[in-house]
Amino acid sequence: MQKILNYINGEWVEPNVSEYVDVINPATGAVIARTPLSRAADIDAAAQAAGDALPAWRRTPAQDRIQYLFKLRDLLKSNNDEIARTITNECGKTFDESKAEMVRAIENVEVACGIPMMMKGEVAEDIAPGIDELMLRQPVGVCATIAPFNFPGMIAFWYLPYVLATGNAYIMKPSEKVPMTMQLIFRLIDQLGLPKGVINLVNGGKEAVDAILDHPVIRAVTFVGSSNVAKYIYSRAAANGKRVQAQGGAKNPVVVLPDADMDMAVKIIADSAFGCAGQRCLAVSWAVTVGEARHQFNEAICDAAASRTVGYGLDAGIQMGAVINSASKARIEQLIGLGASEGASLPVDGRGTVIKGYENGHFVRPSILMDIQPKSEIWKTEIFGPVLGVMHINTIDEAIALANSGAYGNQASLFTSSGSAARKFRYEVDAGNIGINIGVAAPMAFFPFSGWKESFFGDLHGQGMDAVEFFTQKKVVVERWPKEWTRKF
Ligand code: NAD
Repeated sequence: MQKILNYINGEWVEPNVSEYVDVINPATGAVIARTPLSRAADIDAAAQAAGDALPAWRRTPAQDRIQYLFKLRDLLKSNNDEIARTITNECGKTFDESKAEMVRAIENVEVACGIPMMMKGEVAEDIAPGIDELMLRQPVGVCATIAPFNFPGMIAFWYLPYVLATGNAYIMKPSEKVPMTMQLIFRLIDQLGLPKGVINLVNGGKEAVDAILDHPVIRAVTFVGSSNVAKYIYSRAAANGKRVQAQGGAKNPVVVLPDADMDMAVKIIADSAFGCAGQRCLAVSWAVTVGEARHQFNEAICDAAASRTVGYGLDAGIQMGAVINSASKARIEQLIGLGASEGASLPVDGRGTVIKGYENGHFVRPSILMDIQPKSEIWKTEIFGPVLGVMHINTIDEAIALANSGAYGNQASLFTSSGSAARKFRYEVDAGNIGINIGVAAPMAFFPFSGWKESFFGDLHGQGMDAVEFFTQKKVVVERWPKEWTRKF
C-alpha cells in the first residue's frame, strides 16, 4: 500500500501521527492508501519553511520564476496518463474525465506563465511638477489552499501556478479522501529544482485546516468545498486577518425553452448532470421545462439517463464511474427517497446499483426525479450525485424567479435558439457562471472562476487576473524629484 507523505522544505517527510483515514478506490471498495492526519506542528513546519523561502523567492525575477512553470507544464503533460489513472482510482470518475480535469489544470499553468505581463505595475509621470506616482504589485506572502475530493488534480491549479508565479510561497492541503494525485504531482514538482520551502504539501483533516487558518505566517487562504465549511473557513481566516476566498456548494438549474434544439439540449444536460457521477460543482441538478418543451424533453432525458454505461472508470466504454464512498452512496440514495416521498415520480431509479465484477464498489446509476416541487427539500438540497430533478413552469420569467430564489448561485444554464431570451437570462440570473446552450459553464483559465451567494464567500475569484490580484498586494509610491536635482546630471 502506498505511503502518503508530506513534502516540506523540499523533503518527503512522514508526519508523527497516530490517526489515519482510509483512501478507498470507489469502484472496488479496496483500501489503497491511508492518509495521515497531520497535526498543527506539521503545518507549522511547512509555514516556517515557506516563510524562510519567501524573501529570496520574491526577489527572483518573474521571468526566472516562470521557467519552473514551463517545466511543470511539460512534466504534467508527459505524465498525464499516470496522473489520470491515479485520479480515477482514488476518486471514481472515468479515465477520460480524469484526463479532461488535467487539461484544465495545465491551462492554468500556461496562463500563469504570462505573469511578467500580468503582474507589472503602473506609472503616472508628473502628476504634479517633478512628482511621479507608481503602483507596484507585490506578493502577499505565504499562501495555502484547502481542497475538496472531487477534482484531486485540477483544483490546486486554480491557485498554485499563480502563487508561484507572483513570488509567493505555498502550502497545499488536499482532501484526506484523495491524497494520491497530489503525491504524484509533487513528485513531479520535486523534479523542478525549485528552492526548498517554496512549495509544500501537508496531508490531513480538520486539525491541519484549523492550523492553517490560525497560523500567523500564512497570509492568504483559498478554499474549495461545501458551503458550511466554506463559511467557517471564510470567517475564521478573515478574523485572523488573512486574505481569503472560499468556494462553496451548488444546486444548479437549467431552463429548457420550447425553441431549443432538443437533441442537443438532452445530450448536453445528461452529460452535465451525470458526468463525474454528478460530483461536480457545475453539474446541473434541476431542469425546468418551459411551455411545450416538456413533451420532447422528459422522455428523452429519461432515455439518456437509463442508457448510460456505469462501471469502473478505467474499463473501456464506461460513461460514468462510482461515487466517492459508501457514505456518499447512502446519502444520495436517501435523498432520492426523500424526493419520492415529497411527491416526485422516479421514472429512472439508480438506487441499489451493483456492478458485476465490482460488487464492493459505490455505484449509483443516473436517476431522474420527475415533477419535483418548487421550494421542496429535494429542490433545495445539494445532492452531489447523479440525480436530476425535473419540473415544469409556464414562462421564462417564472423560471428565472425560481432560480434566483435558491440559496446557491454557482451556475445557471439556458437552452434556446432565441437571442433575446438568452440575453434576458444572462442579465437577470443571479449566478457566477451562465451557460447558454452549455451544460458545464466552466470558464477558461484566463477568466475568473467562482459562484455567487452561498456558493462563494470572498471577493476576488480563482484563475486568471483575479488570481493575480488575490495573490498580490498593491503598493502605491509617490516620488518627488525636484528639477534642480535632475539638472545635476
Ligand atoms: P468538504 O467541505 O467536506 O471538504 C473540503 C475540505 O475541507 C477538505 O480538505 C476537508 O479536509 C476540509 N474540511 C472538511 N470539514 C471540515 C471542517 N469541519 N473544518 C475544517 N476543515 C474541514 O467538501 P468535499 O465533500 O470534499 O467536496 C464536495 C463539496 O465541494 C460540494 O459541496 C461541492 O459543491 C463543493 N465544490 C465546490 C466547488 C466550487 O468551485 N464552488 C468546486 C468543487 C467542489
